[in-house]
Amino acid sequence: MADNPGVYDILVIGGGINGCGIARDAAGRGYSVLLAEMNDLASGTSSGSTKLVHGGLRYLEHFEFRLVRESLREREVLWSNAPHIIWPLRFVLPYHKGLRPAWLLRLGLFLYDHLGGRELLPPTRTLDLRRDAAGQPLKPLYAKAFEYSDCWVDDARLVVLNALDAADRGAVIATRTEVVGMRFAAGVWEARLSDKRSRNTRTARARHIVNAAGPWVDRVLSCISGSNAVKNVRLVKGSHIVVRKLFQHDRCYIFQNADGRIVFAIPYEGDYTLIGTTDEDFRGDPGDAQISYAEKAYLAAAASEYFVRPVSPDDIVWSYSAVRPLYDDDASKAQEATRDYVLKQAGAPGNGALLNVFGGKITTYRRLAEGALEEIEGILGRRGKPWTKDTPLPGGDFPVDGFDELVRDLARGFPFLAPGHARRLAHLYGTLARQILGSAESLADLGRCFGSDLYEAEVRYLMAREWAMSAEDVLWRRTKCGLKLAAQEIGATEAYIAANKRGDDRS
Ligand code: FAD
Repeated sequence: MADNPGVYDILVIGGGINGCGIARDAAGRGYSVLLAEMNDLASGTSSGSTKLVHGGLRYLEHFEFRLVRESLREREVLWSNAPHIIWPLRFVLPYHKGLRPAWLLRLGLFLYDHLGGRELLPPTRTLDLRRDAAGQPLKPLYAKAFEYSDCWVDDARLVVLNALDAADRGAVIATRTEVVGMRFAAGVWEARLSDKRSRNTRTARARHIVNAAGPWVDRVLSCISGSNAVKNVRLVKGSHIVVRKLFQHDRCYIFQNADGRIVFAIPYEGDYTLIGTTDEDFRGDPGDAQISYAEKAYLAAAASEYFVRPVSPDDIVWSYSAVRPLYDDDASKAQEATRDYVLKQAGAPGNGALLNVFGGKITTYRRLAEGALEEIEGILGRRGKPWTKDTPLPGGDFPVDGFDELVRDLARGFPFLAPGHARRLAHLYGTLARQILGSAESLADLGRCFGSDLYEAEVRYLMAREWAMSAEDVLWRRTKCGLKLAAQEIGATEAYIAANKRGDDRS
């Protein structure tokens, strides 16, 4: 702890991508950090994204050049820091007569290729859909497409890896811990923390607060001001549906819709296709956001406009919804509100420094954290230099083109693993997969199997190292094994975790 024992330099409120990214950067620069997350890490918006590390082709239409340039540059930075959970994806954009003209698409993609930061990702090319495999699942009226590059990310794991690295660098990560009140007294912030499991409250003291509560950012501000009238963000709900695999190749589709919106159809977890997203203004508690039947029908219809085999709401095997906390720039339509982030410092060293994070994308979280640290340094004084650009996230310390070799290496070391199992572990944990497997010489050494290829050793690791405290944490955020387990198996996983929970957590 800095110069005032018992007082953290920084209290970060919110364990989404922005809070965890800031906590990691700050801890690495030598600040003492406490991060409080009221539920599980990534339980808010950061596990409900489309999971793209992308420049955002559509944002060019809204002239968001700063954001697009920064995002395009971040793609390869993030990919090289976490090549197990981030990888390149080719996007097929069919030309649709009557919608955006081909010249406009080509111009947008030319800018996209040349705005900066593309060194490893291949450039745009034109496809003849009558010949290319990408044309096979599509209706024959789509004859031409453009194919360009962006990246895919396991969003929830990106959050956890940032928290893990922050903790390894000294940050305290307190999950199931809600900040319910704050006041500035005798030169420091006093925050009231409520443990959501025990209902006990305690006080934490910090010199600086970062409010990274995502869609709850205004609610956190209300708990200082005592007013419910705080309104800096516009809440916009977006939903996704998951259906059984609609096509065999590994590229993704980006479909234009007659309403001007776009919908992605992305290969997902081997056996599935992810389709999203919608854009609807939202009121209420972001934690209650759920997909409506109208959204399911909208997404199914958008995909059916392109695929030969129609998609019906009955085909949906899973869906999820999340709320974007967009900085309120008075745009009339939800899809037009800025996707850029805004950092606003309130207060000063003497009267309570508080940095509010509004908006942001998964893609820009690392740059957002650097921006936040610049603001914090202005208050707390400089401790260390920016360092995250060239530092791998946990498990990501292997070359960007080294994933297949990592899987082979794991399979050589643990020959009893089925190929899909070795691949899944390598994707989730990268070089840390060996920590889960330890000295195991057979599947039996991994302990009880909960279903599919989820074994006790992995669940134990997630509980001990990654703050997992419920079946939902394990099955839907740390892994996506929930897609493969039957209800009874999910119940058994929950019972196991409840019986083996430690009294304390990693905080
Ligand atoms: P959150 O992830 O919501 O984190 C805030 C956290 O604060 C929550 O976990 C919450 O529990 C916690 N919290 C709130 N109040 C308190 C309190 N009082 N005490 C303690 N904790 C508290 N971006 C991309 O780059 N690529 C995409 O493909 C993409 N797709 C998207 C699709 C959709 C449908 C949506 C909604 C967003 C998408 N985004 C995408 C944007 C991106 O997901 C968000 O900008 C980002 O996840 C926001 O992260 P955050 O940390 O600010 O918020």
